Amino acid sequence: MSQQIGRQIYLKREDLNHTGAHKINNAIGQVLLAERLGKKRIIAETGAGQHGVATATVCALKGLECIVYMGEVDIQRQAPNVARMKMLGAKVIPAKSGSKTLKDATNEAIRDWINNPSDTHYVIGSVVGPHPYPDMVARFQSIISEEIRWQLKEKTGNELPTHVIACVGGGSNAAGAFYHFLNEPTVELIAVEAAGLGIHSGHSAATTTLGTPGVLHGSKSIVMQTPDGQVVEPHSISAGLDYPGIGPLHAHLFASGRGRFLSATDQEALKAAFNLTRLEGIIPALESAHALAGLEQVAFPENSKIVVCLSGRGDKDMDTYMKHMTEFD
Ligand SMILES: *Cc1c(COP(=O)(O)O)cnc(C)c1O
Repeated sequence: MSQQIGRQIYLKREDLNHTGAHKINNAIGQVLLAERLGKKRIIAETGAGQHGVATATVCALKGLECIVYMGEVDIQRQAPNVARMKMLGAKVIPAKSGSKTLKDATNEAIRDWINNPSDTHYVIGSVVGPHPYPDMVARFQSIISEEIRWQLKEKTGNELPTHVIACVGGGSNAAGAFYHFLNEPTVELIAVEAAGLGIHSGHSAATTTLGTPGVLHGSKSIVMQTPDGQVVEPHSISAGLDYPGIGPLHAHLFASGRGRFLSATDQEALKAAFNLTRLEGIIPALESAHALAGLEQVAFPENSKIVVCLSGRGDKDMDTYMKHMTEFD
């Protein structure tokens, strides 16, 4: 891929983590914290099921009760992850309000949490929600950029890349990949959102382009909403990017200009996923494929050293990839 782009590219392999994505970094941190706080009951929300599986995995290891809220629609379309959570001993409760997807599962989880404050810890899956979650989740995920620094040093003799690229749903893998470079002005931070069928198609999740300041799930950020503040349903081919907001850290990176925000369509992400698979023998998650698609949109100077955060592996997306196989033969 470096030869194809004509620039040196490094993949940060979060896809090699147990359970197949960066989500386990945060789940381990929060469950250890819950244990320290003496909480016996763990709850979580999940969209595609990746965060639910990561949380259920850590709870199985720690012998803690685990309850996962999941939209009724998502339960139907993500059956393998629902089965994994159940096998791991978690109870999956369907969220039946609204569009019956991630936003509604998050609402239900927050409702449970505020009704059970003494024995329950809510493990939020991204850099969203009320303080201290956006800060805490970013710190747990900051292991990504901590490792990028020493791994790059090992490979190249220098721990600073010129660019770091990551996809943004809520923004946790991007926050983790950016964290230890926030105060390194020579490192350009590039976030890629999901443009779905096209930014202005009405079926998109490109929050920084389409959103306006608002409050969602307990923090002020940029939100896709109607003029009277109703959340607009997002769309992306990748369930992990299908969220109508972004974490407040990213809203700040966007507003201050420290971060550069791009978007990739469903089709561009699919193309990038097949390209990486054929060139490198790595099947990426559809979410991560958006970061790879972002590579094609930037005119990188010569001698650039670009790190792409490969947030997860593509096993969970094989159904989608199989549907599009013939387009990329
Ligand atoms: C959940 C998920 C994402 C999106 O979540 P962020 O909080 O934006 O990182 C991205 N990639 C993978 C593989 C995921 O499972």
